[in-house]
Amino acid sequence: MAAGALADRVALVTGGSRGIGREIVLRLAGLGASVIINYRESAEAAREVLEQVLAANGSAELLPFDVASQDQVDDAFKQVVDQHEKIDILVNNAGITIDGLLMRQPAPDWDRIIDVNLRGIFHCTKAASRRMVRQRYGRIVNLTSVTGQMGNAGQAVYAATKAGIVGFTKSMARELAPRGITVNAVAPGFIETEMTAALDEDTRSKYLDAIPLGRFGSGDDVARTVAFLVDPGAGYITGQTIAVNGGLYM
Ligand code: NAP
Repeated sequence: MAAGALADRVALVTGGSRGIGREIVLRLAGLGASVIINYRESAEAAREVLEQVLAANGSAELLPFDVASQDQVDDAFKQVVDQHEKIDILVNNAGITIDGLLMRQPAPDWDRIIDVNLRGIFHCTKAASRRMVRQRYGRIVNLTSVTGQMGNAGQAVYAATKAGIVGFTKSMARELAPRGITVNAVAPGFIETEMTAALDEDTRSKYLDAIPLGRFGSGDDVARTVAFLVDPGAGYITGQTIAVNGGLYM
């Protein structure tokens, strides 16, 4: 039996193969959870995360599916419940952006971003909450973004989905509260990723000037906040959006 605050908990992290999701997987597994690592296509990256968890004596498995596909999501969650007989934690982390000024943005881009960022959360939350309601226990955390709070030129569609996630989180928190399930959102600011690493020095320092704490966040900064919210002891926190942005937006 795993020791740790999340021992015996079963957690599914969507988009757990890369970036922030990877850090969430490592942290939840480090706390003793049995973690199901979802991804869509980056199988090699996902295998590396799995190997890292197993090397640290953690428990994890891979479960590729497209969060935007209802059939794939339903099959995947059925598989999880058949195997583990429960699901305690869902982290809706998978998300995409296709940036561009709205005037030039093709409608199919809008559809795809909505499909992954909003339809994905709809399918996964629905599938997980069916089981959580029967268990009378659950922790759901949705990844939104500072962009959903402040807006960002060139990211109108992404911002719309991320603001939508905040309303979805509050509504689900109200629907599921009577069954002992909490639903919260985490809103990262600028996180050190492949994307921010590629910025030129001028742009980097312009962004840094706007962040009171004077640095980009790390994936682990976000993962620690997710770990706090999924802890059994966080049972009196629901419907909240916790910003992890160095003070960029307050
Ligand atoms: P990332 O590095 O691009 O990783 C995205 C993850 O989502 C990958 O594991 C990817 O798997 C998965 N994914 C994408 N589409 C999917 C689909 N249809 N079905 C299943 N999995 C899918 O992203 P990130 O930067 O870590 O961002 C993670 C979350 O944090 C997102 O919701 C994002 O909006 C939010 N966020 C990020 C930042 C930031 O600075 N990075 C800031 C604020 C908010 P595949 O590779 O297999 O497609």
